[in-house]
Amino acid sequence: FDMFVLAFVERLFRPTYKKDDFVLGKKLGEGSFGVVYRVSLANKPSSKEGDLVLKKATEYGAVEIWMNERVRRACANSCADFVYGFLESSSKKAAEYWLIWRFEGDSTLADLMQSRDFPYNVETLILGEVQDLPKGLERENRIIQTIMRQILFALDGLHSTGIVHRDIKPQNIIFSEESRTFKIIDLGAATDLRVGINYIPKEFLLDPRYAAPEQYIMSTQTPSAPSVPVATALSPVLWQLNLPDRFDIYSAGLIFLQMAFPGLRSDNSLIQFNRQLKRCDYDLVAWRKTIEPRCGPELRKGFEMLNLDGGIGWELLKSMVRYKARQRLSAKAGLAHPYFDREGLLALSFMQ
Ligand code: ADP
Ligand code: MG
Repeated sequence: FDMFVLAFVERLFRPTYKKDDFVLGKKLGEGSFGVVYRVSLANKPSSKEGDLVLKKATEYGAVEIWMNERVRRACANSCADFVYGFLESSSKKAAEYWLIWRFEGDSTLADLMQSRDFPYNVETLILGEVQDLPKGLERENRIIQTIMRQILFALDGLHSTGIVHRDIKPQNIIFSEESRTFKIIDLGAATDLRVGINYIPKEFLLDPRYAAPEQYIMSTQTPSAPSVPVATALSPVLWQLNLPDRFDIYSAGLIFLQMAFPGLRSDNSLIQFNRQLKRCDYDLVAWRKTIEPRCGPELRKGFEMLNLDGGIGWELLKSMVRYKARQRLSAKAGLAHPYFDREGLLALSFMQ
């Protein structure tokens, strides 16, 4: 009850917006369920490029607003700063949901990973300066470790709140320039299993490149339903049984893999990897046995990095990318994994 009163009071004192308050800027993205623009407030022309982001969404926007409202109350640091969401039905077009966030920065992890300079470009962003240190595996490992820690931290926040994201991928992880950390975006496919708002499992929305083999989270418990949020009152017990959060862990494991192996960063090579792993019955050790003896430098480098410190990185990867959800680590357990015992990036800047 208190939670709802608080939510109501909080809502009452926050600014509310309508369509005409915004000036549209550059288009940032376009999916099948919405278009994303950089925008600024009409009465605040000082912010020339626009310090906000607007998503004009279809009917699925209702759930995305709900998820963002919940995140900003329960685990605000996990995701991009949500400002406001509303139903826009003033024009003749079909009604749209408008969602507003603070503009967090220019780069997603996908953008950063495409650069030849990855992961050093991320080191510069996080530390705010270029490091005058010799490049090498050890240093790259520490940068990647820092990124993984931030991703798991954000996921732990979501999962502790009862939200499974279901679309974790580098394109949905944004670097927040203000906090100098990675945050999660795009809660369009997310589901909240504790409170009972359970979306129709939109399997068709899931990105097959990053989806865990189980793919259809809870779909056996959830009858197909109309395209509105349905309260199904799923209990925490069911959460415990099915471990739906481990779906995101698998996706995060694939991101770890792509960061470690330059040869797996492109879409095509990831798709090929998925095929190979499936052929190995999702056994990463078996995959390694078939690949390592005949692999080129782009893959060998990944194995070398994961072998550092007694193979602790490989150990972590293995405990995230597993066929059975219950054998994968939780985000919280992941953060406690010895891979993260080594000091990360910030320690690196004091080493000079
Ligand atoms: P889609 O449903 O199109 O995937 P996203 O929510 O993932 O929508 O946003 C699309 C793109 O817009 C992202 O990949 C990112 O580049 C940009 N973007 C989204 N939210 C923000 C934000 N808060 N700050 C900066 N850029 C953002
Ligand atoms: Mg997206």
